Amino acid sequence: MTEDERMDLDLLVTVARGVIDLTSVARSAEFRLPYPPSVQLALDRVVLAGLRRGLPVPPGVPGLMSWCRNPGLEGWPLALPGGFLTVDAQLIHSTADEPTRTCAELASLGTHGAPEQEAEALLAALADACGTVERFAACRDFLIRRPVILRFNPAELLRPTVAVTWRLVKGLYTPVPDRFSIDGLVHRCTGCLLLAKPVTADGPWCEGGCPSSGRELESSHQSGQALALPFPLRIFLALPGRTEQMVRSRLKDQPRLLPSGLGVHHVTDQDGMLRAFQVHDREQPVLAALRAAEVAIRLGGPLDVVVPDGLAARPGHRQSFSRGLPDGAQVRLLSAGEFTAPQPTGLSRRSHA
Ligand SMILES: [Zn+2]
Repeated sequence: MTEDERMDLDLLVTVARGVIDLTSVARSAEFRLPYPPSVQLALDRVVLAGLRRGLPVPPGVPGLMSWCRNPGLEGWPLALPGGFLTVDAQLIHSTADEPTRTCAELASLGTHGAPEQEAEALLAALADACGTVERFAACRDFLIRRPVILRFNPAELLRPTVAVTWRLVKGLYTPVPDRFSIDGLVHRCTGCLLLAKPVTADGPWCEGGCPSSGRELESSHQSGQALALPFPLRIFLALPGRTEQMVRSRLKDQPRLLPSGLGVHHVTDQDGMLRAFQVHDREQPVLAALRAAEVAIRLGGPLDVVVPDGLAARPGHRQSFSRGLPDGAQVRLLSAGEFTAPQPTGLSRRSHA
């Protein structure tokens, strides 16, 4: 990566953080100027980059937000390394008007990254409160299964077996932001279990990016009752968590959770080897590879990154992930199907680079 490319990537990360910050400010009646400082900083930097190169600049924050809806970042005065982002990358979903997962992944890049790091910090605090790995694993599974609670059901949540978990996790849930409310009702996708909007210019939308064919939404029955986890936990824990729970259920040996970061599991394979794996569900393979390499360094050993089969099958996804790995990174990408397929004894499933 050249110095110019590095600077432009840093600029785009600044914009992505600005978009996330702007979203976290309530955009209803109480929203008013000034914009969060990160948004103003992002605008200043994009304007400067455009002026330096004699290219068009956004006239203000609304203009910059409009640029964030351009697929492939068309029209931006930036020179990113070829193939660094997918060709359709955008920071704000054009019709749902919500930050994309690409935006969240970009904003998490680097030492001052958020929101992935925010999800990690929330989980670390939960692990401390739990005291034991078993209790933390139960709480983490609860969050994965219920990122959005459409209605509080005391009969379910206050059952003795669930009440201990609910007491530990309930502080993580907050009322769903107003912008998701339509006639006072909140919608959830039955596929990814995340927040959804039933009506946009091109049909229903959900946070998890489920295929539009066959996507179903359910809604809260009463206004003001719905609760949701914060955006970072919805995107970086609950979304991949759906695939993780399926992978864990298919493995012969029950994996052990390492309560660090977003959660890595250890499992003993058929050859008696201990393997570490983490499940990802991300839009940007190069960004996913960079984060995975950091997790492998933290672990001090090889890491298998397991992704949904559909994601692994996207054209160019595996190649981009491999290209994104730093030299010597002990990381491999596998689809959920590959990771859970029975292997002939004595043959290593694959060898780490
Ligand atoms: Zn969905």
